[in-house]
Amino acid sequence: MFTLPPLPWAENALEPVISANTISFHYGKHHKTYVDNLNNLVKGTDYENATLEKIINETAGKPDKAGLFNNAAQVWNHTFYWNGLRGGGGGKPPGKVAQMIDAAFGSYDNFKKELSATSVSQFGSGWGWLVLDGGALKIVKTPNAEVPFTKGQKPLLTLDVWEHAYYLDYQNRRAAYLDAVIDKLVNWDFVAQNLG
Ligand code: FE
Repeated sequence: MFTLPPLPWAENALEPVISANTISFHYGKHHKTYVDNLNNLVKGTDYENATLEKIINETAGKPDKAGLFNNAAQVWNHTFYWNGLRGGGGGKPPGKVAQMIDAAFGSYDNFKKELSATSVSQFGSGWGWLVLDGGALKIVKTPNAEVPFTKGQKPLLTLDVWEHAYYLDYQNRRAAYLDAVIDKLVNWDFVAQNLG
């Protein structure tokens, strides 16, 4: 059975950018519900002992498996999102990541603008991502629960743009949430780890 992984920090660790109240609902209700739904859906099926990645890859794009895909992918996405954030993070990345960002986007400022603008422009619910695609850094967005790795892109960082991620703290101001997260919460060590 799948379990809700512990948060990598205390619920108030991202304040004032993301409140403990938001984390409490987002992790304790939304993320947990995806785990519970997934467990109900895999019960008694071949997927009971599968990895999340296997379920996601095998159900992606299959309308008759949408429930499994959506819940498995949302479990994966949220765990990845939490790990990409930390209190006192954000700003310019160190070392190798900074060089790759300059090479791909021209400068850190351009990268920041593109990550924010692309994530803001996701119509409805979804995710903004920094990915590795054929050796190059790219910024992409996905709707709903979709994940870049089903299309061969390696996720490095994600930003949740579902309203539940920011509405309690920022209401309709998605751009303000994104800019604050990029400036103050990005866990660049996690991005570097994912680059390998
Ligand atoms: Fe979320």
